[in-house]
Amino acid sequence: MLKIKNYINGQLVKPASDDYLDNYNPATGEVYSLIPDSNEQDVQNAVEAAKSAFPVWSKMNAEQRHDILMRVSALIERDLDLLAEAESIDNGKSKSLAKQVDIPRAVSNFKFYATAAMHTATKAHETVGEAINYTLRQPLGVVGCISPWNLPLYLFTWKIAPALAAGCSVVAKPSEITPTTAYLLSKLCIEADLPAGVLNIVHGLGAKAGSAIVAHKDVKAISFTGGTKTGADIARQAAPMFKKLSLELGGKNPNLIFADCNYEEMLKTTVLSSFSNQGQICLCGSRIFVERPLYERFKTDFVERVSALKIGDPLASETNVGAVVSKPHLEKILSYIDLAGKEGGKILCGGKQAKVSGRCENGWFVEPTVIEGLCFDCRTNQEEIFGPVVTITPFDTEEEVLKYANSVEYGLSATIWTENLSRAHRIAEKIESGIVWVNCWLLRDLRTPFGGVKNSGIGREGGFEALRFFTEEKNVCIKINY
Ligand code: NAD
Repeated sequence: MLKIKNYINGQLVKPASDDYLDNYNPATGEVYSLIPDSNEQDVQNAVEAAKSAFPVWSKMNAEQRHDILMRVSALIERDLDLLAEAESIDNGKSKSLAKQVDIPRAVSNFKFYATAAMHTATKAHETVGEAINYTLRQPLGVVGCISPWNLPLYLFTWKIAPALAAGCSVVAKPSEITPTTAYLLSKLCIEADLPAGVLNIVHGLGAKAGSAIVAHKDVKAISFTGGTKTGADIARQAAPMFKKLSLELGGKNPNLIFADCNYEEMLKTTVLSSFSNQGQICLCGSRIFVERPLYERFKTDFVERVSALKIGDPLASETNVGAVVSKPHLEKILSYIDLAGKEGGKILCGGKQAKVSGRCENGWFVEPTVIEGLCFDCRTNQEEIFGPVVTITPFDTEEEVLKYANSVEYGLSATIWTENLSRAHRIAEKIESGIVWVNCWLLRDLRTPFGGVKNSGIGREGGFEALRFFTEEKNVCIKINY
């Protein structure tokens, strides 16, 4: 059975303890590889390697760093099919989604930040008649990048690429639930001649390996994406050391549909925004609010389209809905469907574990589920489920739907469907979220700021925001004798 290795100081190495964790294929329920159960010693080795690499990497000129990162990007692109299959097996997502979204995005992440490294500029301020101030932007040093399981290589590289482009050296940990593409990335980094120690990948549990990264005194910043509770734990641990933190956390995104929307476009996109990746995208809309005149029509058509989604083997090209990521996650999703029933919800379609015959008969699949009849402030409508479950609720006025939308503790993204431009602006301005899509969903421009408000996190990723996060400003004031 494949034993995944850590990537430390340019080498693929066993964990210090030689202990391993099981890695499951969610589509079959079987263990198919072993993950290093790394501990403080592995993190210490990784930090030492990153510290040794930092002086040379941070002083390398931007064009050289660009060339190396572009080589990594090109190798990911070369292995697109292999990586997409690995992602699908590890995560349960359909291979076609991984091929269209996850892996191409990892290619773009490296490309985007490789080029950004060559376009950064610093500020100067003239105090007329007295002085010139110039502001240096210096890489922080060794930084930690910790990522979740839902978009494994996509989000892992979304952190690593800007950190490296900024001149930091990195100790990174992918989710222990989906480690494989990070392992394959470490092999590609060796092939790309990324200097030893610049990137170190330590596999293992959050509470052990992840926590050791956060706790290490020489790790200057933590870029984290994951659950809100984990984010709070990390903030608590990091605060006394005054580490810089970027926290991209949970969501409970609203989808506001007005009767004047472009109906066909809205319907098609709402199926995707609800159930892509089995609803396990932080940006999926899980609370759908529909203006009352459109409600019955929407309900009928939406349920018909959702019921037609093909649940099946993630490796089969016709599959729309793959497996959810793990058995505990399957149980969590089913427990929320049960709760929705207890709270008075009516299940319009789905609602059960799905059975897929053949190779996947023991896999963890959930039927795409649509629920109506719930109050906006019940637990099902307030807590993050992060699975293929959405609620639909009618509304009558803008004030009412804004109250519903803003009632949750989260504020990551929101989607508005209307042809009324003034209304779109009005609502976008009042909605409590970091990202608003009008008449679209998941349309990403990597230059734009990405992140949430309220319990969806602090800080912004994307564009130059991420490069700023991984650097510190230093102002130099020079007095001029005229
Ligand atoms: P998680 O918080 O359980 O784990 C995320 C990562 O943190 C993993 O690598 C894990 O090993 C590590 N970790 C866990 N405990 C840790 C600790 N004490 N110290 C350091 N590291 C620790 O999240 P998950 O279940 O992997 O991911 C799902 C969550 O991620 C959902 O809540 C989802 O909304 C969120 N998410 C948010 C965004 C965003 O951009 N805001 C994007 C994707 C996913």
